[in-house]
Amino acid sequence: MKTPSAFLASALVLGAWAITSWAAATGPVFYGDPPDDHHPWAVHDRNRPQPVRVAPGTFSAPEQPGQPPSDAIRLFDGTDLSQWETDKGAPAPWRVRDGYMEVVPGSGGIRTKAKFADCQLHLEWAAPAKVEGSGQGRGNSGVFLMGRLEVQVLDSYNNETYADGHAGAYYGIHPPLALPLRPPGEWQVYDIVFRRPIYRDGKPVDPGYLTVFLNGVLVQDHAVLEGSGGHMGRTRPGPFPAQGPLSLQDHGNPTRFRNIWYRELPPRPADGGTDGYLTPEATLAKRREVAASIREATAKSAVATDPISEMLGLMESLVYELERATSERAQALAEQYVASLKQLTPAQLPAKRDEARRVRDAFKYLVKFQRLPAEFAPLAALEQLIKEQGWDKRRQ
Ligand code: MG
Repeated sequence: MKTPSAFLASALVLGAWAITSWAAATGPVFYGDPPDDHHPWAVHDRNRPQPVRVAPGTFSAPEQPGQPPSDAIRLFDGTDLSQWETDKGAPAPWRVRDGYMEVVPGSGGIRTKAKFADCQLHLEWAAPAKVEGSGQGRGNSGVFLMGRLEVQVLDSYNNETYADGHAGAYYGIHPPLALPLRPPGEWQVYDIVFRRPIYRDGKPVDPGYLTVFLNGVLVQDHAVLEGSGGHMGRTRPGPFPAQGPLSLQDHGNPTRFRNIWYRELPPRPADGGTDGYLTPEATLAKRREVAASIREATAKSAVATDPISEMLGLMESLVYELERATSERAQALAEQYVASLKQLTPAQLPAKRDEARRVRDAFKYLVKFQRLPAEFAPLAALEQLIKEQGWDKRRQ
């Protein structure tokens, strides 16, 4: 038999159920397929972080370089070489005029003072308008990602050379898929996506990739990295440092560059990112983190005054982590919820229609995906009540 105080507490709890209705937007997590061993998020998960908002830039015209997007880091805006140096750390000796930089033949390559790795890189280059030389000697320069992997710059317009040395080549490794070049003297546009190789304990966990668009045409299609590439020698896959500079080559031709910027890319799963196909360990860690934050938010906002929110908040956390104490508490609240409905008078019940159906749907979801026991009595009771009341029938 209940003591008076326990009876009072129980009555208070049921009182709280009676005045509460579920308006919280907890529904969507009980919707798409739940997290699994490789995905910490449910499909269409509202708890998943939103993508960063970026104001787009503008495209370049022949006489006018475009504007970079709002989160880009500018490396050269046409005014000076303050962000560049020689490979000995001296001031960059190339010429700057009319909004572009130009290779001073024989002065050596230059590199950024900044170091970075995975990036979306934009730059524009122009081979000399006056055609001189042939093959690799015509408008040659190069874009060296992390200072080591060359995306070839060459006047490949009406110019013959070996396939893996053309403009747009991953030099010495992958020829460009096409040669969409403008005539020499005109601006050519590179948009590059670079992902460095990732190694753990000397073993590759992600080989790294190179994607290049030349004048908007795909010329490197997510090419798997095979080392730095280079002249005559075949290179092999291997680790890169964590970061490196962007380097531009002096190959003896006065090639020009303008409008150079990059955007840092979010980490891949192999680098700590949580979007994509994760390892079971990384998935579990993220799921635990999400579950803990939901439990914490639930504890702060819902307890006592809003038992439905507490119940659904705890159940939401079970989608990510089946923590025992949480599961027991959530199940107890579910039993109380059903008991509270049974206490309502026929006049009070209709107001609970939508709420009861949504709670029922949440229970069904959790049973379906084994977050609640297969024989979950509160679900059976709710379904019975909903059937009796005809709440699943269309309203006339
Ligand atoms: Mg080159």
